Amino acid sequence: MMEFDKRFNPKELRDFLQKTYGPGVQVEVFPQSQQEVADEGADPEEKRKKDLEFAYKPREIKEHLDRFVIRQDDAKKVLATAICDHYHHAQMDRTSSDRWSDYKKQNILLIGPTGVGKTYLIQNIARLIGVPFVKADATKYSETGYVGGDVEDLIRELVSQADGDVALAEYGIVYLDEIDKLASPAQVVGRDVSGHGVQRNLLKLMEETEVPLRSPTDIASQMQAFMEFQSKGKVEKKTINTRHILFIVSGAFNGLTEIIKKRIGSKQIGFTGDKTTADQEGFLLDQVKSVDFLEYGFEAEFTGRLPVVVHCSQLSADDMFDILKHSEGSILKQYKRDFLSYGIDVYFTDGGMRRIAELSVEERTGARGLMSVCEKLFREFKYRLPDSEVREFVVTEDLVGEPEKELMQLLEEPARFRAQVQRSRLKKLEDRILEKYGVSIALTEEGYGLLATEAQKTGKDPLEFSEAWFGEFEHALRLLAKTSGDKQFKLSAEALQSLPDTLERWIQDSYGG
Ligand code: ADP
Repeated sequence: MMEFDKRFNPKELRDFLQKTYGPGVQVEVFPQSQQEVADEGADPEEKRKKDLEFAYKPREIKEHLDRFVIRQDDAKKVLATAICDHYHHAQMDRTSSDRWSDYKKQNILLIGPTGVGKTYLIQNIARLIGVPFVKADATKYSETGYVGGDVEDLIRELVSQADGDVALAEYGIVYLDEIDKLASPAQVVGRDVSGHGVQRNLLKLMEETEVPLRSPTDIASQMQAFMEFQSKGKVEKKTINTRHILFIVSGAFNGLTEIIKKRIGSKQIGFTGDKTTADQEGFLLDQVKSVDFLEYGFEAEFTGRLPVVVHCSQLSADDMFDILKHSEGSILKQYKRDFLSYGIDVYFTDGGMRRIAELSVEERTGARGLMSVCEKLFREFKYRLPDSEVREFVVTEDLVGEPEKELMQLLEEPARFRAQVQRSRLKKLEDRILEKYGVSIALTEEGYGLLATEAQKTGKDPLEFSEAWFGEFEHALRLLAKTSGDKQFKLSAEALQSLPDTLERWIQDSYGG
């Protein structure tokens, strides 16, 4: 028999159980975290000091989301406002002695197809405000036919996400996707009713309840309690309160627009034809009411706990392009890093990104399509390039169209993209000039060509060469910035060749105008 140290060791417990019952025994261990160790014996006042400090305004949250999530403006605004309301209220409720018992929690229902940024929105909010976040599919609970307890695992998972900090976990966000699958329309006879059971279990959590930190069905937790009893002579009752946990549920809700349309009446809203366009769908979802969810198969109490309803729309090829080019979380950054770890620079042209975006739309999985398209596109490049001579390449429209052919050519001629790479690097020049001197200059293609050629003659890096060259006209550039406001100047190769004259002319024109 194995002897346990007085201090519980989760790994030993797992080893022990697996040794006794075989490696098939899956033990989920809720380790006694450092926080828990530190909290033992800490007085409640001490714990309260670690309370969340929330001082955001809706606009700040929206602006943060704009950096990562493309489109979904309505959802961003509504979410940002609901999040602020929720955390301001929670903070007041927690710190003042006078609890406002009539407060309605701002739990949120998010409607939208797959891969359009629903999870990504919530993830970014949770990261910004520093609260733990857990996500699960609601179907997980109905499909196993499982009743009771398990939805509580979500709450326990928050504690583990918060590294054992229960106080922080009590401010966490629980996100349940595929909630629409819990609906059981009354008119469908013989349909599994477990959805209702799960709805009811969730209801309890959405209100206020105490969830035990130790799962009654988890052997490890029970063993832990047992050992604690042995070492201390008592088991402390540890629970997490769900009063301030925010619930966000989501789903595609196929068929919901039809229900709304029927209620309002197509004629009233002037819709003709059978097919509902994306715009019409957005319009209809804006009109959604609780009765529509009842018709869809939800219990009144359940929808009653979800006062904030908002939808995310399908992404077009243009949106996909924007995600690739502008989102801070763009998947292309990951590919750049992956190739860079082999010392390979990869650049993307607008044409290349546009082609990837178009192919992704065909996948019909929202922005997830970008991942599958890129994975397929770069698979062979990732395998072949690391031990080739290739040190750089450019993802052009042609390359996206015929990756195998382009890869072969690249392997035969590793410097194939040299000129284009130089050109891509030079594109940064415009940003640098704007940053340094405050003037917005757009170089024509010939302008870039000229700079690249001049740089090559000197053997210098084209960007460094060009920056140094513009640096010589610093005075004139700054003067131009002062006189011209935010006007943009187009610089052709010809105008570039006589830059001092060009600048002087621009300055004079600005004074004149
Ligand atoms: P869902 O709507 O199904 O929850 P996700 O938010 O999980 O979809 O999207 C999957 C991934 O696709 C995200 O992690 C993100 O990288 C990307 N993505 C989805 N929508 C957007 C968007 N609107 N803007 C930027 N990236 C997005």
